[in-house]
Amino acid sequence: YEVYGTPITNSHGELQGVVIVLHDITNLKRLEQARKDFVANVSHELKTPVTSLKGFAETLLDGSHEEETIRLQFLHIIEKESSRLQELIEDLLELSRIEHHSFELNVMPLELSEVTNEVVHLLEEKANDKEITIHVSCEGSTKMDGDIARIKQVLINLITNAIVYTQQGGKVCVKTIEKAEEVAIVVQDNGIGIDEESLPRIFERFYRVDRARSRNSGGTGLGLAIVKHLVEAQHGRIDVNSIVGKGTSFTITLPKKPN
Ligand code: ADP
Repeated sequence: YEVYGTPITNSHGELQGVVIVLHDITNLKRLEQARKDFVANVSHELKTPVTSLKGFAETLLDGSHEEETIRLQFLHIIEKESSRLQELIEDLLELSRIEHHSFELNVMPLELSEVTNEVVHLLEEKANDKEITIHVSCEGSTKMDGDIARIKQVLINLITNAIVYTQQGGKVCVKTIEKAEEVAIVVQDNGIGIDEESLPRIFERFYRVDRARSRNSGGTGLGLAIVKHLVEAQHGRIDVNSIVGKGTSFTITLPKKPN
């Protein structure tokens, strides 16, 4: 609490009482803490690849690794770490644009099942690499108004996660369902699942159930935060169900006519 006190005096200057104002600043403090945490997280996330880039570049420069295979190996690491950095910066910029509402939705008529098929096609190679099959199905008509690019991004993030967090040979199902005034998209996998404690936190920026695993698979920890914002910007909602060891299912519900 912030406390302000003001004495109340009468016309003769005699003290009559005191007004005390208690200002609840819990929320302000929480926001301030969240901002500080975010800056600390961003700094940490940027530092890791930069340190690694610097280290490998310096080692190459000092010339002690004349061997071609080692040189190539280092260059590959440098390339990979630069891509990570680039991806992280792009995600941060995207998140910042969304959070400051400095982006416009480009709403137009679309067929959701078509958009879904396109995205699945785009990610097929990634799934094939892990021998994961993606099943696509559609219930009813999924004609709606929406921002195609944003819906694609949401689907890319969710289906990529489904592939990343599912074992070799697993299965991912993407289903679009027509409702009265809405359409739903379900992205379901039979992967590693998310424990009950972590589940409410996965939409937070930089929250990861398993930091090392997410990093190794190229995750920035911002994907679901972006997804949630993009879905809400289109007046939709996102729900998640998960059982550890069995799999996870995300359901996005979007209005057919957002305006
Ligand atoms: P990341 O870049 O780490 O994947 P996200 O914001 O996309 O970041 O996801 C946050 C965390 O939620 C992930 O690190 C992972 O632990 C968990 N997660 C997301 N999707 C799934 C899924 N389909 N199955 C299991 N865990 C998931």
